Amino acid sequence: MATQGTPVCRLCRREGEKLYLKGDKCFSRKCPVERRQYAPGQHGQARQQKLSDYGIQLREKQKMRRIYGVREGQFRNYMKEAIRRRGVTGEILLQLLETRLDNVVYRLGIASSRAQARQLINHGHILVNGKRVDIPSFLVKPGNTVEVAESARKMPPILASVESAGGRALPAWLQFDANQMKGTIVSTPVRDEIDTDVQESLIVEFYSR
Ligand code: SF4
Repeated sequence: MATQGTPVCRLCRREGEKLYLKGDKCFSRKCPVERRQYAPGQHGQARQQKLSDYGIQLREKQKMRRIYGVREGQFRNYMKEAIRRRGVTGEILLQLLETRLDNVVYRLGIASSRAQARQLINHGHILVNGKRVDIPSFLVKPGNTVEVAESARKMPPILASVESAGGRALPAWLQFDANQMKGTIVSTPVRDEIDTDVQESLIVEFYSR
């Protein structure tokens, strides 16, 4: 993504909240957002200026883009597609991002972060409906299965992620069989089933200007 090379924890500190970009560290006391609640950089502790409406919308858009690890141009394309489809634009935008293969691999607990999920997909360790798919932005549909390739089922990072995710609740639109390392997309997620802490209406307003 465009922020490649930027230590990801700085992105959270810039937004002033946890974006959960680093796997297990995000749930531990080592998370820098818990220890330093101010923006990164030399002026991070200076008094925050009040943001304009535009500034608030921009920050929300950046936050959502960073959570899902999507480049600016790609994000704009999702927005165009959401506007084109019938329904509530903000919810459709979220549905598009949630049904990306990298997000689904993360949500199923196969990877501890979306970045790790992208790596597993790029390396050919993930199958959709039994076939290798190495495109992180691939959009899955209800009825699709997503599984770890047999050759990768004993990989320590995958085993560790699956074990640590075992204690977390799976969204209602997904099912996962940890023994087979195989998930199923039960339905398209509705807003209530997506726990991403963003105000998508602000992002729709941002692109309506
Ligand atoms: Fe963000 Fe996770 Fe780093 Fe905390 S540990 S700042 S939540 S990426």
